Amino acid sequence: MYSTIDLHSHSTESDGQFSPTAVVARAAENGVTHLALTDHDTVTGIDEALQAAMSHGLEVIPGVELSSQWNGRSVHIVGLNIDPEHPALTEALSALGRERDQRAEKIAERLEKLGFHGALEGAKRFAGGAVVARPHFARFLVDAGYVKSIQKAFAKYLGKGKAGDIKPAWPSMADAIHCVKKSGGIAVLAHPLSYDLTRTKLKSLISDFSDAGGEAIEVVSGDQSRQEIESLAMLAQEFHLKGSCGSDFHVDNAPWQELGRTPPLPSQCIPVWGDWAWPL
Ligand code: MN
Ligand code: MN
Ligand code: MN
Repeated sequence: MYSTIDLHSHSTESDGQFSPTAVVARAAENGVTHLALTDHDTVTGIDEALQAAMSHGLEVIPGVELSSQWNGRSVHIVGLNIDPEHPALTEALSALGRERDQRAEKIAERLEKLGFHGALEGAKRFAGGAVVARPHFARFLVDAGYVKSIQKAFAKYLGKGKAGDIKPAWPSMADAIHCVKKSGGIAVLAHPLSYDLTRTKLKSLISDFSDAGGEAIEVVSGDQSRQEIESLAMLAQEFHLKGSCGSDFHVDNAPWQELGRTPPLPSQCIPVWGDWAWPL
């Protein structure tokens, strides 16, 4: 049995493969009744997704996935039910955009030094107007014949500790949470098991998240085992946080992150959507 609620997905407005319309259509096809579009640091796809939702008979929840940092680590905060036009959000997103642009320029400089000419222009072609990020550089390197695969591009040039691994100066996690709340949304800690933390550090992250006003954690996220879901459900209970559920859909042919293919939220969790005025 799958969850019909999917509160984490990406489109071409960030690093996803499909347009907002195509994401909505695919979600509907997969039986999703409630979909949040949560592109990285942008809300530019939301209008299109809301439009598409009307012809596909599902509910689209305006969302965003904000880059932030906690204790020197990159942490993602999903904002659900945000007002995409709220000035606090608009301001935070333009600052994040500038940060991403600067990071892309630095990555390009590093790649140029390695002899990969035209890296920035090349990556921009794959970004198609969206913010340039490492996956776009990876596609450029593959396309130009410098490496055989995206995986190799990351392993040799873009991944952790490699030349193109530029640490961005994201805002603090607390700032990201405040921004979501100011814009009328609910702050959710995205994929808590993806940060490579010990159990103790994970608890300290969740505790700080909660203290800063965060209200829910993703108990169900793409590519998690039954045990991982159970353990996150217990952490949510321990810290009196609600649970969210989302695939983190990006691309075709990644069944572990497919729209509408995550298990449902465990019954002991208080769903993040509990108070929302939804026709469920
Ligand atoms: Mn992504
Ligand atoms: Mn993420
Ligand atoms: Mn994501």
